[in-house]
Amino acid sequence: MSSHLIVGARIFDGSGSPTVAGEVLVDGNRIVAVGDRLAAPAEAEVIDGAGAVLMPGLVDGHTHLGFGSSVEHTSTRFEPDEEKVLLVAHCARVMLDHGFTSCYSGGNRMPASEVAARKAFAEGWLPGPRLRAASWEGSAGMVSPGHYDFPGIEGRESDPGSVRDFVHAMADLGVDIVKVSLTGESAVVGGTSRVMQFTEEEIEAAATAAAERGVWLTAHAHSAEAVRLAVQYGVRAIYHATFSDDEAIEALVEARDRVFVAPTPGIIWAHLHDEEHPPTPEMETYETQASIARVAPELHKRGVRMVIGGDYGFPINPIGRNARDLRLFVEWFGLTPAEALRCACEYGGQLMEQQVGLVREGYLADLLLVEGDPTEDVTLLEDPANLAMIMSDGRLHKIDPARRTASGR
Ligand SMILES: [Zn+2]
Repeated sequence: MSSHLIVGARIFDGSGSPTVAGEVLVDGNRIVAVGDRLAAPAEAEVIDGAGAVLMPGLVDGHTHLGFGSSVEHTSTRFEPDEEKVLLVAHCARVMLDHGFTSCYSGGNRMPASEVAARKAFAEGWLPGPRLRAASWEGSAGMVSPGHYDFPGIEGRESDPGSVRDFVHAMADLGVDIVKVSLTGESAVVGGTSRVMQFTEEEIEAAATAAAERGVWLTAHAHSAEAVRLAVQYGVRAIYHATFSDDEAIEALVEARDRVFVAPTPGIIWAHLHDEEHPPTPEMETYETQASIARVAPELHKRGVRMVIGGDYGFPINPIGRNARDLRLFVEWFGLTPAEALRCACEYGGQLMEQQVGLVREGYLADLLLVEGDPTEDVTLLEDPANLAMIMSDGRLHKIDPARRTASGR
């Protein structure tokens, strides 16, 4: 097993506390010590962190590897399935190159590809973040994967059986997460963000089956009603939560020990800055921005754990831009840089339910060495040139040669 000793850096431990001077010793894939003048094995590779900040690898809570667009390659979204699988691997490598060592998937039209990718990344023969694999995004009437028309629940029979079968089928594939689109999405089909796509009976069926099978539920939920029902039926991760009213916010606050919210600002920003297709009124882009900019600060103030992740993977919002969410948490939601980083680190680790997101003894060695101080300026993390080191599961995915020193101090 290789070991690494990182010296001379200031450490941001991921909890939001101020940076401190110290050293970190990594043995194999674990952080084994954090402190001053650590005793390290003679063969430990020493990494010089002078002038830099050592911090946990970032966790993204809402990205779609399967949408296939990155800062290096734009997907048509109509590739053959074989190519789509390769795009998952491509996008995952791009995420890791940008300092994201964990990814809690937002859904994939081909869930088995995420199950396979999760294994490949964990075994270390393909570069990618730790992955929580997700199902396809179940929507009204359980039509086919990747089909988004959001007809709602009016004029169709409630069909809890199909929802139950969906959850079981996804659990059989081995996903960690089953995703349900409780509301529509106005950016895709105009005017549907506040239209319920599932009956209460169907949500209950999803919750019962998920509990039976030990999989987590994620809800795409823009409306207050959808948020309230998601909380009521034990959904673990709620995406958007855009139009939460006082009652929905109260429900989230009460459930704050078991629920995570991804307010997903990145995709809103992308629509606002899309010069080729500027937002139309039906997309409700401005209302969405204004409402989440009111709701998210309230959730933060009242102790609801928010995670970053802005629906990355679309051509206008490619993977590799994920760290933009940090800036939007600061600029739109009023968090301090350290608080925004806590969302991407400590809360992200809790979302993954793995020992990641903190620089602590016993935690997994997912670490970044950042040129400059991201607790002063989170935008440093938007440029991978500022990442002098990316360590993933104890392996050096990237290291600036100038930071390598001969063994021993
Ligand atoms: Zn999404």
